[in-house]
Amino acid sequence: MIEPDPAAAGEWPRPLPVVLAPARDEALSSWLARHAAFYGLGITSMRRHCVPDAVSLPGLDRKLTPDQEARLAHLFRRDRVAIRDMMHMHSGWAVDRLVARAVDHHCEQCARLLVAEGHAEAVPRSWFHTWRISCERCGSPVVSASKAPWTVLPDLFPHLWSAALKGERLLSGAVDRASPAAFDLPTTMLRVLMISSASDAIPEHGGRTLDAVVPGFNATLDRHGIVIPFTSLIDVPLPVRTALLAGLVFALEEANVAIPAIWNATAGMHRTHLGFVLTDLAVGLRPRNHNISDVGRVLAARFAAYGRTAVSHSMPGT
Ligand SMILES: [Zn+2]
Repeated sequence: MIEPDPAAAGEWPRPLPVVLAPARDEALSSWLARHAAFYGLGITSMRRHCVPDAVSLPGLDRKLTPDQEARLAHLFRRDRVAIRDMMHMHSGWAVDRLVARAVDHHCEQCARLLVAEGHAEAVPRSWFHTWRISCERCGSPVVSASKAPWTVLPDLFPHLWSAALKGERLLSGAVDRASPAAFDLPTTMLRVLMISSASDAIPEHGGRTLDAVVPGFNATLDRHGIVIPFTSLIDVPLPVRTALLAGLVFALEEANVAIPAIWNATAGMHRTHLGFVLTDLAVGLRPRNHNISDVGRVLAARFAAYGRTAVSHSMPGT
């Protein structure tokens, strides 16, 4: 059966007379917001005009129904593939855990470049990526978009910068391969490193197991009053993100040492949580009482093999 064409039937508004060229890697929500500014409309009015059944513009970067996609392609005189290409391309876990729902950071140098290119206020998709410490386009250190008080702090682990860049490339490489399986090991290790270590030193925050791999991490959080919500990897603030990315590389490369150290840094319900996270990866190997021994050895070997390959492949020019 031939589907009715709402554009031909006059059910949709006419296409916009002027359509702005998207900036390089521009997010769909950013492109729509720039059209709102160009036509002197508020964001809400623009959203209602373009996608009346959408809740928010940023939400469109993650999910578009076929009808929404077709309507946007019609209004903006683009093909549907061009519209889809402006969305976050990752899927499932990666989008939920590592792509922020609002802009995570920006790059001052690229913001100036965008103005020079005639795309002032454009927001690249990479500015939503919470695993970045350097700009995807120019390599400059990025600037946090957060309003949290610790945002003004400098990088608190500058000595780990080059190791952190390896971690950043490792995660970007996993995303670019667009395979959920390729994401399993590095993102699981990120989850492992963010489990509470139930440190007595900062009981109200709990501390993180990352401290077993990057000693001093918990003390740094405590000293600067930095709070990282337990439910999310997205909110690891830039001043300490270097430690997480470097810790990811260390833990993957030396998983046979790191996993027991992380295990020993946990207690009670947090150790149970760690057991669940690790055994997520080991279907059929779920241990009784969440004992690390057998599953830990198997997973440590998998992490280490992955880490050696992924880290070496993430080096520049390889
Ligand atoms: Zn840049």
